[in-house]
Amino acid sequence: MKLSKPRTKFYSCGIVYWQFLRDLLARSIHRGDDLTKFEAAAAEHFGSDHAVAVPMARVGIYLCLRYYLQAGQLVASSPYTLAEVINMIVCAGGTPRFVDIDRNNADLDPEKLSQCTDDNLGAILVTHLHGIPANIRPILEFAKSRGIPVIEDAAQSAGAMVDGRYVGTLGNAGVFSFGILKQLNSIYGGMVLTNDAALTAFLREELAKFAPVSVGTLADKLAYLGRNHVLTSNPIFTLGTFPLLRHGALHDVDWINRLVTVETDLRLKHEIDDWYQHQLSASQARMLLRQLPDLEKHDQQRIRHGQAYLELLSDVPGLVLPRLPENCRATFAHFPVQVADPPNLLRWLNFYGQDVVIQHFANCAELDCFSKFRRDCPVAAEVANSMVLLPTYPDFGIHNVQRNSQIVRKYFGAGQPIFDGTNCLQLG
Ligand SMILES: *Cc1c(COP(=O)(O)O)cnc(C)c1O
Repeated sequence: MKLSKPRTKFYSCGIVYWQFLRDLLARSIHRGDDLTKFEAAAAEHFGSDHAVAVPMARVGIYLCLRYYLQAGQLVASSPYTLAEVINMIVCAGGTPRFVDIDRNNADLDPEKLSQCTDDNLGAILVTHLHGIPANIRPILEFAKSRGIPVIEDAAQSAGAMVDGRYVGTLGNAGVFSFGILKQLNSIYGGMVLTNDAALTAFLREELAKFAPVSVGTLADKLAYLGRNHVLTSNPIFTLGTFPLLRHGALHDVDWINRLVTVETDLRLKHEIDDWYQHQLSASQARMLLRQLPDLEKHDQQRIRHGQAYLELLSDVPGLVLPRLPENCRATFAHFPVQVADPPNLLRWLNFYGQDVVIQHFANCAELDCFSKFRRDCPVAAEVANSMVLLPTYPDFGIHNVQRNSQIVRKYFGAGQPIFDGTNCLQLG
Protein backbone atom coordinates (compact mmCIF):
# COMPACT_ATOMS: atom_id res chain seq x y z
CA MET A 1 0.00 0.00 0.00
CA LYS A 2 1.30 3.47 -0.89
CA LEU A 3 0.90 5.70 2.15
CA SER A 4 -0.30 9.29 1.82
CA LYS A 5 1.46 12.00 3.79
CA PRO A 6 -0.59 14.56 5.72
CA ARG A 7 -0.36 18.30 5.09
CA THR A 8 1.05 19.01 8.54
CA LYS A 9 2.86 17.18 11.26
CA PHE A 10 2.51 17.36 15.01
CA TYR A 11 6.04 17.44 16.36
CA SER A 12 7.31 15.37 19.29
CA CYS A 13 3.97 13.82 20.27
CA GLY A 14 5.73 10.88 21.93
CA ILE A 15 7.61 13.20 24.28
CA VAL A 16 4.46 15.20 25.03
CA TYR A 17 2.24 12.20 25.93
CA TRP A 18 4.93 10.44 27.90
CA GLN A 19 5.86 13.51 29.95
CA PHE A 20 2.25 14.41 30.71
CA LEU A 21 1.30 10.89 31.75
CA ARG A 22 4.37 10.51 33.90
CA ASP A 23 3.80 13.84 35.65
CA LEU A 24 0.09 13.16 36.06
CA LEU A 25 0.74 9.83 37.77
CA ALA A 26 3.46 11.33 39.96
CA ARG A 27 1.28 14.39 40.67
CA SER A 28 4.15 16.58 39.56
CA ILE A 29 2.63 18.63 36.72
CA HIS A 30 3.58 21.81 38.56
CA ARG A 31 6.51 20.48 40.55
CA GLY A 32 10.15 21.20 39.81
CA ASP A 33 12.19 24.15 38.59
CA ASP A 34 12.17 23.15 34.94
CA LEU A 35 10.51 26.36 33.80
CA THR A 36 13.60 28.24 34.97
CA LYS A 37 15.84 25.58 33.44
CA PHE A 38 14.05 25.81 30.12
CA GLU A 39 14.28 29.59 30.10
CA ALA A 40 18.02 29.40 30.75
CA ALA A 41 18.49 26.74 28.03
CA ALA A 42 16.45 28.73 25.49
CA ALA A 43 18.28 32.00 26.23
CA GLU A 44 21.58 30.17 25.77
CA HIS A 45 20.46 28.35 22.61
CA PHE A 46 19.17 31.43 20.81
CA GLY A 47 21.77 33.83 22.19
CA SER A 48 19.58 36.19 24.17
CA ASP A 49 20.06 37.71 27.63
CA HIS A 50 16.63 36.70 28.85
CA ALA A 51 13.95 34.16 27.98
CA VAL A 52 10.55 34.32 29.67
CA ALA A 53 8.03 31.49 29.22
CA VAL A 54 4.50 32.70 28.49
CA PRO A 55 1.23 30.76 28.14
CA MET A 56 0.97 31.44 24.40
CA ALA A 57 2.79 33.51 21.81
CA ARG A 58 -0.19 35.86 21.55
CA VAL A 59 0.03 36.59 25.28
CA GLY A 60 3.73 37.34 24.83
CA ILE A 61 2.88 39.83 22.08
CA TYR A 62 0.15 41.35 24.24
CA LEU A 63 2.41 41.77 27.28
CA CYS A 64 5.33 43.20 25.28
CA LEU A 65 3.00 45.73 23.68
CA ARG A 66 1.55 46.70 27.03
CA TYR A 67 5.07 47.38 28.22
CA TYR A 68 6.14 49.46 25.23
CA LEU A 69 2.95 51.31 24.33
CA GLN A 70 1.31 54.40 25.59
CA ALA A 71 -2.48 54.44 25.27
CA GLY A 72 -3.72 55.03 21.76
CA GLN A 73 -0.35 54.69 20.07
CA LEU A 74 -0.19 53.00 16.69
CA VAL A 75 1.41 49.63 16.10
CA ALA A 76 2.64 49.07 12.56
CA SER A 77 1.86 45.51 11.54
CA SER A 78 1.41 43.34 8.52
CA PRO A 79 -2.31 42.66 7.95
CA TYR A 80 -1.44 39.14 6.79
CA THR A 81 -1.37 37.28 10.09
CA LEU A 82 -3.65 35.66 12.67
CA ALA A 83 -6.58 37.96 13.42
CA GLU A 84 -5.98 37.19 17.09
CA VAL A 85 -2.56 38.84 16.89
CA ILE A 86 -4.24 42.05 15.72
CA ASN A 87 -6.63 41.72 18.66
CA MET A 88 -3.64 41.60 21.00
CA ILE A 89 -2.62 45.07 19.76
CA VAL A 90 -6.08 46.39 20.65
CA CYS A 91 -6.17 44.56 23.99
CA ALA A 92 -2.81 46.13 24.88
CA GLY A 93 -4.29 49.59 24.32
CA GLY A 94 -2.78 50.15 20.89
CA THR A 95 -4.28 50.86 17.48
CA PRO A 96 -3.30 48.64 14.57
CA ARG A 97 -1.65 50.57 11.73
CA PHE A 98 -1.64 48.13 8.82
CA VAL A 99 1.33 48.32 6.47
CA ASP A 100 1.17 46.38 3.23
CA ILE A 101 3.40 43.39 2.59
CA ASP A 102 5.97 42.17 0.14
CA ARG A 103 4.50 39.88 -2.52
CA ASN A 104 6.98 37.02 -2.39
CA ASN A 105 7.42 36.44 1.33
CA ALA A 106 4.21 38.05 2.58
CA ASP A 107 6.15 40.03 5.22
CA LEU A 108 5.94 43.68 6.21
CA ASP A 109 7.32 45.69 3.28
CA PRO A 110 10.07 48.06 4.55
CA GLU A 111 9.41 50.38 1.60
CA LYS A 112 5.77 50.85 2.66
CA LEU A 113 6.79 51.14 6.30
CA SER A 114 9.14 54.00 5.46
CA GLN A 115 6.14 55.88 4.02
CA CYS A 116 4.46 55.61 7.40
CA THR A 117 4.71 59.19 8.66
CA ASP A 118 2.29 58.94 11.60
CA ASP A 119 3.94 60.61 14.57
CA ASN A 120 2.25 58.50 17.24
CA LEU A 121 3.78 55.23 16.09
CA GLY A 122 4.53 53.29 19.30
CA ALA A 123 5.87 49.95 18.07
CA ILE A 124 6.48 47.82 15.00
CA LEU A 125 5.37 44.20 14.91
CA VAL A 126 7.36 42.15 12.41
CA THR A 127 6.16 38.64 11.52
CA HIS A 128 8.59 36.07 10.17
CA LEU A 129 6.17 33.84 8.28
CA HIS A 130 6.67 30.20 7.30
CA GLY A 131 10.21 30.05 8.72
CA ILE A 132 11.37 32.67 6.23
CA PRO A 133 12.98 35.72 7.84
CA ALA A 134 11.31 39.03 7.13
CA ASN A 135 13.40 41.71 5.44
CA ILE A 136 14.15 43.09 8.88
CA ARG A 137 17.37 45.07 8.41
CA PRO A 138 15.75 48.18 6.88
CA ILE A 139 12.89 47.84 9.38
CA LEU A 140 15.34 47.93 12.29
CA GLU A 141 17.03 51.00 10.78
CA PHE A 142 13.71 52.78 10.37
CA ALA A 143 12.76 51.90 13.95
CA LYS A 144 16.08 53.15 15.25
CA SER A 145 15.79 56.44 13.40
CA ARG A 146 12.34 56.95 14.94
CA GLY A 147 13.22 55.54 18.38
CA ILE A 148 10.48 52.90 18.18
CA PRO A 149 10.73 49.33 19.57
CA VAL A 150 10.47 46.33 17.24
CA ILE A 151 8.69 43.17 18.37
CA GLU A 152 9.31 40.09 16.27
CA ASP A 153 6.63 37.44 15.87
CA ALA A 154 8.84 34.37 15.39
CA ALA A 155 6.02 31.90 16.13
CA GLN A 156 6.65 30.01 12.86
CA SER A 157 10.36 30.58 12.64
CA ALA A 158 12.32 29.10 15.54
CA GLY A 159 15.79 28.49 14.09
CA ALA A 160 15.63 30.93 11.17
CA MET A 161 18.52 33.42 11.02
CA VAL A 162 19.56 36.78 9.63
CA ASP A 163 23.30 37.57 9.45
CA GLY A 164 24.06 34.54 11.63
CA ARG A 165 21.69 35.60 14.41
CA TYR A 166 18.41 33.89 15.25
CA VAL A 167 15.22 35.71 14.37
CA GLY A 168 13.51 36.70 17.60
CA THR A 169 16.77 38.20 18.91
CA LEU A 170 17.08 41.02 16.36
CA GLY A 171 14.50 43.48 17.67
CA ASN A 172 13.66 44.60 21.21
CA ALA A 173 11.70 41.42 21.89
CA GLY A 174 11.04 38.18 20.00
CA VAL A 175 8.00 36.00 20.56
CA PHE A 176 7.87 32.23 19.95
CA SER A 177 4.99 29.75 20.03
CA PHE A 178 4.95 26.21 21.37
CA GLY A 179 1.45 25.37 20.13
CA ILE A 180 0.61 21.94 18.75
CA LEU A 181 1.42 22.91 15.17
CA LYS A 182 4.73 24.56 15.91
CA GLN A 183 8.25 23.08 15.73
CA LEU A 184 8.51 22.97 19.51
CA ASN A 185 5.28 21.56 20.92
CA SER A 186 4.29 21.76 24.59
CA ILE A 187 0.54 21.42 23.79
CA TYR A 188 0.52 25.18 23.89
CA GLY A 189 2.94 27.73 25.22
CA GLY A 190 5.38 30.35 24.13
CA MET A 191 8.27 32.52 25.17
CA VAL A 192 9.67 35.99 24.83
CA LEU A 193 13.37 36.55 24.16
CA THR A 194 14.81 39.94 24.99
CA ASN A 195 17.95 41.74 26.12
CA ASP A 196 15.79 44.29 27.90
CA ALA A 197 16.02 43.67 31.66
CA ALA A 198 13.18 46.08 32.44
CA LEU A 199 10.86 44.30 29.97
CA THR A 200 11.83 40.98 31.56
CA ALA A 201 10.95 42.30 35.01
CA PHE A 202 7.61 43.61 33.72
CA LEU A 203 6.77 40.25 32.10
CA ARG A 204 7.59 38.33 35.28
CA GLU A 205 5.51 40.69 37.37
CA GLU A 206 2.51 40.30 35.04
CA LEU A 207 2.88 36.52 34.74
CA ALA A 208 2.95 36.21 38.53
CA LYS A 209 -0.64 37.52 38.53
CA PHE A 210 -1.77 34.56 36.39
CA ALA A 211 -2.84 31.26 37.98
CA PRO A 212 -1.01 28.02 37.19
CA VAL A 213 -2.68 26.17 34.32
CA SER A 214 -5.16 23.55 35.52
CA VAL A 215 -4.52 19.89 34.84
CA GLY A 216 -7.99 19.68 33.27
CA THR A 217 -7.18 22.39 30.71
CA LEU A 218 -3.95 20.62 29.84
CA ALA A 219 -5.76 17.28 29.49
CA ASP A 220 -8.42 18.83 27.21
CA LYS A 221 -5.80 20.28 24.89
CA LEU A 222 -3.86 17.05 24.96
CA ALA A 223 -6.96 15.12 23.92
CA TYR A 224 -7.38 17.49 20.98
CA LEU A 225 -3.74 16.94 19.99
CA GLY A 226 -4.14 13.18 20.42
CA ARG A 227 -7.21 13.04 18.20
CA ASN A 228 -5.56 15.02 15.41
CA HIS A 229 -2.35 13.07 15.77
CA VAL A 230 -4.23 9.77 15.34
CA LEU A 231 -6.18 11.08 12.34
CA THR A 232 -2.95 12.13 10.62
CA SER A 233 -1.05 8.94 11.47
CA ASN A 234 -0.80 6.12 8.98
CA PRO A 235 -2.45 3.85 8.01
CA ILE A 236 -5.50 5.75 9.38
CA PHE A 237 -4.63 8.83 7.35
CA THR A 238 -4.27 6.94 4.07
CA LEU A 239 -7.34 4.75 4.57
CA GLY A 240 -9.74 7.17 6.28
CA THR A 241 -8.78 10.78 6.81
CA PHE A 242 -7.25 11.55 3.44
CA PRO A 243 -9.98 9.93 1.31
CA LEU A 244 -12.53 11.97 3.29
CA LEU A 245 -10.62 15.27 2.94
CA ARG A 246 -9.95 14.51 -0.72
CA HIS A 247 -13.62 13.85 -1.35
CA GLY A 248 -14.44 17.17 0.34
CA ALA A 249 -11.91 19.04 -1.80
CA LEU A 250 -12.77 17.41 -5.13
CA HIS A 251 -16.54 17.67 -4.73
CA ASP A 252 -16.72 20.86 -2.69
CA VAL A 253 -18.48 19.22 0.26
CA ASP A 254 -18.98 22.00 2.75
CA TRP A 255 -19.23 19.98 5.99
CA ILE A 256 -16.00 18.13 5.21
CA ASN A 257 -14.10 21.26 4.23
CA ARG A 258 -15.28 22.96 7.42
CA LEU A 259 -13.55 20.25 9.49
CA VAL A 260 -10.20 21.73 8.50
CA THR A 261 -11.16 25.41 8.57
CA VAL A 262 -9.54 27.47 11.31
CA GLU A 263 -10.04 30.92 12.81
CA THR A 264 -13.74 31.06 12.00
CA ASP A 265 -14.67 33.23 14.96
CA LEU A 266 -13.36 36.58 13.76
CA ARG A 267 -14.29 39.44 16.02
CA LEU A 268 -12.74 42.47 17.61
CA LYS A 269 -11.63 42.00 21.23
CA HIS A 270 -10.76 44.63 23.78
CA GLU A 271 -9.70 42.26 26.54
CA ILE A 272 -7.74 39.06 26.38
CA ASP A 273 -9.65 35.84 27.09
CA ASP A 274 -9.60 34.56 30.67
CA TRP A 275 -8.17 31.23 29.68
CA TYR A 276 -5.12 32.90 28.10
CA GLN A 277 -4.12 34.07 31.54
CA HIS A 278 -2.23 31.28 33.17
CA GLN A 279 1.33 30.14 33.77
CA LEU A 280 3.01 27.38 31.85
CA SER A 281 3.53 24.25 33.96
CA ALA A 282 6.84 22.65 34.88
CA SER A 283 5.66 19.57 32.99
CA GLN A 284 5.40 21.58 29.74
CA ALA A 285 8.87 23.00 30.37
CA ARG A 286 10.19 19.44 30.64
CA MET A 287 8.60 18.64 27.27
CA LEU A 288 10.38 21.62 25.76
CA LEU A 289 13.72 20.84 27.40
CA ARG A 290 13.66 17.42 25.78
CA GLN A 291 12.84 18.86 22.34
CA LEU A 292 15.27 21.76 22.19
CA PRO A 293 18.29 19.55 21.30
CA ASP A 294 16.44 18.22 18.21
CA LEU A 295 15.36 21.62 16.87
CA GLU A 296 18.47 22.07 14.73
CA LYS A 297 18.19 18.58 13.21
CA HIS A 298 14.54 19.21 12.30
CA ASP A 299 15.46 22.63 10.89
CA GLN A 300 18.12 21.04 8.68
CA GLN A 301 15.64 18.53 7.29
CA ARG A 302 13.09 21.23 6.51
CA ILE A 303 15.79 23.39 4.94
CA ARG A 304 16.65 20.49 2.58
CA HIS A 305 13.00 20.16 1.60
CA GLY A 306 12.55 23.91 1.14
CA GLN A 307 15.69 24.20 -0.99
CA ALA A 308 14.53 21.27 -3.13
CA TYR A 309 11.16 22.96 -3.78
CA LEU A 310 12.98 26.19 -4.67
CA GLU A 311 15.14 24.39 -7.23
CA LEU A 312 12.38 22.22 -8.66
CA LEU A 313 9.87 25.06 -9.03
CA SER A 314 12.15 28.03 -9.78
CA ASP A 315 11.38 28.24 -13.50
CA VAL A 316 7.59 27.86 -13.45
CA PRO A 317 6.13 31.02 -14.99
CA GLY A 318 3.17 32.41 -13.07
CA LEU A 319 4.05 30.69 -9.80
CA VAL A 320 5.08 33.12 -7.03
CA LEU A 321 7.83 31.62 -4.87
CA PRO A 322 9.48 32.86 -1.70
CA ARG A 323 12.52 35.07 -2.25
CA LEU A 324 15.01 34.73 0.56
CA PRO A 325 16.54 37.92 1.93
CA GLU A 326 20.33 38.12 1.62
CA ASN A 327 22.51 36.32 4.13
CA CYS A 328 19.66 34.61 5.90
CA ARG A 329 18.69 31.08 6.82
CA ALA A 330 15.08 30.10 6.16
CA THR A 331 13.83 27.04 8.02
CA PHE A 332 10.64 26.57 5.96
CA ALA A 333 7.86 25.72 8.40
CA HIS A 334 6.02 25.17 5.09
CA PHE A 335 6.89 26.00 1.52
CA PRO A 336 4.55 28.82 0.46
CA VAL A 337 3.61 29.10 -3.22
CA GLN A 338 1.15 31.57 -4.68
CA VAL A 339 -1.22 30.73 -7.50
CA ALA A 340 -4.23 32.36 -9.10
CA ASP A 341 -6.81 29.85 -7.84
CA PRO A 342 -5.70 27.96 -4.69
CA PRO A 343 -8.80 25.70 -4.39
CA ASN A 344 -8.24 24.57 -7.97
CA LEU A 345 -4.57 23.68 -7.34
CA LEU A 346 -5.68 21.97 -4.13
CA ARG A 347 -8.12 19.79 -6.10
CA TRP A 348 -5.41 19.00 -8.64
CA LEU A 349 -2.90 17.95 -5.95
CA ASN A 350 -5.58 16.00 -4.08
CA PHE A 351 -6.52 14.16 -7.22
CA TYR A 352 -2.93 12.95 -7.50
CA GLY A 353 -2.96 11.86 -3.87
CA GLN A 354 -1.14 14.78 -2.24
CA ASP A 355 -2.61 16.49 0.82
CA VAL A 356 -1.86 20.22 1.06
CA VAL A 357 -3.39 23.20 2.82
CA ILE A 358 -4.41 26.69 1.74
CA GLN A 359 -2.97 29.35 4.05
CA HIS A 360 -5.95 30.55 6.08
CA PHE A 361 -4.70 34.04 7.01
CA ALA A 362 -7.00 36.78 5.85
CA ASN A 363 -5.99 40.29 4.89
CA CYS A 364 -6.88 41.71 8.32
CA ALA A 365 -6.84 45.24 6.87
CA GLU A 366 -10.14 44.50 5.12
CA LEU A 367 -11.90 42.32 7.70
CA ASP A 368 -15.23 43.63 8.96
CA CYS A 369 -14.21 43.13 12.59
CA PHE A 370 -11.26 45.48 12.07
CA SER A 371 -13.15 48.02 9.96
CA LYS A 372 -12.06 50.81 12.34
CA PHE A 373 -8.47 50.19 11.24
CA ARG A 374 -9.19 49.54 7.58
CA ARG A 375 -6.50 50.40 5.10
CA ASP A 376 -5.89 49.69 1.49
CA CYS A 377 -3.34 46.85 1.33
CA PRO A 378 -3.61 45.55 -2.24
CA VAL A 379 -0.67 43.16 -1.98
CA ALA A 380 -2.02 41.56 1.20
CA ALA A 381 -5.41 41.25 -0.48
CA GLU A 382 -3.85 39.42 -3.39
CA VAL A 383 -1.64 37.19 -1.23
CA ALA A 384 -4.58 36.25 1.00
CA ASN A 385 -6.30 34.84 -2.08
CA SER A 386 -3.36 32.93 -3.49
CA MET A 387 -1.24 31.14 -0.90
CA VAL A 388 -0.92 27.36 -0.82
CA LEU A 389 1.41 25.71 1.69
CA LEU A 390 3.38 22.67 0.59
CA PRO A 391 4.62 20.38 3.37
CA THR A 392 8.28 20.44 4.44
CA TYR A 393 8.26 18.64 7.81
CA PRO A 394 11.19 16.32 8.59
CA ASP A 395 9.71 12.94 7.66
CA PHE A 396 7.73 14.22 4.69
CA GLY A 397 10.50 12.80 2.52
CA ILE A 398 12.35 14.25 -0.43
CA HIS A 399 10.47 12.00 -2.88
CA ASN A 400 7.21 13.61 -1.76
CA VAL A 401 8.77 17.05 -2.30
CA GLN A 402 9.70 15.91 -5.80
CA ARG A 403 6.23 14.51 -6.41
CA ASN A 404 4.48 17.70 -5.23
CA SER A 405 6.80 19.75 -7.42
CA GLN A 406 6.14 17.50 -10.42
CA ILE A 407 2.37 17.78 -9.96
CA VAL A 408 2.57 21.58 -9.62
CA ARG A 409 4.73 21.75 -12.77
CA LYS A 410 2.17 19.65 -14.67
CA TYR A 411 -0.57 21.98 -13.48
CA PHE A 412 1.22 25.00 -14.90
CA GLY A 413 2.32 23.05 -17.97
CA ALA A 414 -1.35 22.34 -18.69
CA GLY A 415 -2.19 26.05 -18.31
CA GLN A 416 -3.76 25.87 -14.80
CA PRO A 417 -6.91 24.17 -16.13
CA ILE A 418 -10.12 24.35 -14.10
CA PHE A 419 -10.00 20.92 -12.54
CA ASP A 420 -13.17 18.87 -12.89
CA GLY A 421 -11.65 15.41 -12.48
CA THR A 422 -11.52 14.60 -16.19
CA ASN A 423 -8.65 16.73 -17.39
CA CYS A 424 -5.98 14.83 -15.44
CA LEU A 425 -2.61 14.07 -16.99
CA GLN A 426 -0.37 11.03 -16.83
CA LEU A 427 2.40 11.57 -14.34
CA GLY A 428 5.81 10.14 -15.19
C1 LIG B 1 0.85 30.30 15.79
C2 LIG B 1 1.07 31.72 15.57
C3 LIG B 1 0.80 32.68 16.56
C4 LIG B 1 0.10 32.36 17.83
O1 LIG B 1 0.74 31.45 18.64
P1 LIG B 1 -0.01 31.03 19.99
O2 LIG B 1 1.06 30.35 20.79
O3 LIG B 1 -1.10 30.10 19.59
O4 LIG B 1 -0.52 32.26 20.62
C5 LIG B 1 1.13 33.99 16.31
N1 LIG B 1 1.66 34.37 15.15
C6 LIG B 1 1.94 33.49 14.16
C7 LIG B 1 2.56 33.97 12.90
C8 LIG B 1 1.63 32.14 14.33
O5 LIG B 1 1.88 31.28 13.35
